[in-house]
Amino acid sequence: HSKSLGQNTYCFFQASMSANAQQQLQLLHDLRMAMERREFVLHYQAKVDAHSGIITGAEALLRWHHPVRGLVFPDEFIPAAEKNGMIVQIGEWVLGEACRQLCIWHEKGHRDKSVAVNLSGLQFGHTGLVQAVCDVLQRNNLDPRHLTLEVTETVAMRDADASILILQQLNDTGIRIAIDDFGTGYSSLLYLKRLPAHELKIDRGFVRELPHSTEDAAIVSAILALGHTLNLKVVAEGVETVAQQQFLTGLGCDSLQGYLFGRPMPPDQFLEMLTPS
Ligand code: C2E
Ligand code: MG
Ligand code: MG
Ligand code: MG
Repeated sequence: HSKSLGQNTYCFFQASMSANAQQQLQLLHDLRMAMERREFVLHYQAKVDAHSGIITGAEALLRWHHPVRGLVFPDEFIPAAEKNGMIVQIGEWVLGEACRQLCIWHEKGHRDKSVAVNLSGLQFGHTGLVQAVCDVLQRNNLDPRHLTLEVTETVAMRDADASILILQQLNDTGIRIAIDDFGTGYSSLLYLKRLPAHELKIDRGFVRELPHSTEDAAIVSAILALGHTLNLKVVAEGVETVAQQQFLTGLGCDSLQGYLFGRPMPPDQFLEMLTPS
């Protein structure tokens, strides 16, 4: 009896596995088609200097114009693209496209603007990354300090010794490095001290309930003190209200990002935002 139950269980398991595998295969196919059909687009969200209010540049955020599903957000396909490896190819496209866009801003006279690009964990560990960065800088004739790569705290700390080596090589190219979603991982302060980074981005989970949450206010103050001690610029994500803006600026945040200053938007719209009428 137990054997037949085992067999049934096995069959059920196998059936569900193949359904899942089939789904994964379909998505892999869809992602490849999306690359070919140029269905990916980048939207740009302003990063603002906290004290002057000036837009210093933008973070590029990936979207997928799916022919059936409409605009698909990264959380819905990046984990899968990471699993099947497509993220490396997609990520290279993102890097190239964001730099191409940056050149357009510079050509239109916005010569001091910067762009930030998110890296996935797989891309971060990929051996071709540093070369890809050098290539894109050279191809677009860009000053490296106008490009920031954002890597999440979790990815940066997964294999901290390996990360330090990669970040060091990236750092040597002259680009800037931001530690994204800071505060959500488990950073060892010893490693954080050794990370060649330029920027800490406070996760928006700590910003949401400001200014009234005393816990979040204490956490943000601590991150600011830590970041500034380590000579890092500190950026707050997810700033939605004037009260949050004033509070964070008062605490000494260097840059702010959030719906208050602008949602992620198509490149043309962002360019209009840069050009005061
Ligand atoms: P992230 O890098 O931390 O980006 C910030 C996310 O917060 C974005 O979501 C942005 O639209 C959203 N956001 C910005 N301001 C506000 C605000 O004031 N309120 C709220 N509620 N949300 C705000 P999005 O675009 O859905 O991206 C989600 C995540 O997907 C990103 O988090 C990043 O980790 C990843 N991602 C986006 N583009 C790329 C990419 O090109 N490559 C890789 N590997 N990951 C990407
Ligand atoms: Mg980011
Ligand atoms: Mg973030
Ligand atoms: Mg995030």
